[in-house]
Amino acid sequence: MTEVKGPVKEEVKLKPTKKDKEAEKAAADQAKNDLIDQRTEDWRNKAARGYQEHQHCSICGRAIHLGKKYCSMECKNKYEGVAKKQKKNQNLQCIIMSAVMPVIMIIMLTMSGGH
Ligand SMILES: [Zn+2]
Repeated sequence: MTEVKGPVKEEVKLKPTKKDKEAEKAAADQAKNDLIDQRTEDWRNKAARGYQEHQHCSICGRAIHLGKKYCSMECKNKYEGVAKKQKKNQNLQCIIMSAVMPVIMIIMLTMSGGH
């Protein structure tokens, strides 16, 4: 019993002296670095993906997936409503302008002609 314990203890004592400590440290360091690398890579990938692939909602400015224009139906409806209004306004402005412009021209002509 005691004879068996002796060499086993020595072996156990020998193991964590240099090689194993260094190996453990190296392994731990590598594991740490790997974890950090993975994290940073994930972070970088996410950041890169985020910068490359995300867009902002045209209405509220929230980040959305590429290919989508709006974050929700609400914003889509809002945007379409705004666009329709803008188109209506533009048409109205065009009509008003085309109606007012000749009037102004006539007024200017008559004013310059009166003198
Ligand atoms: Zn939105």
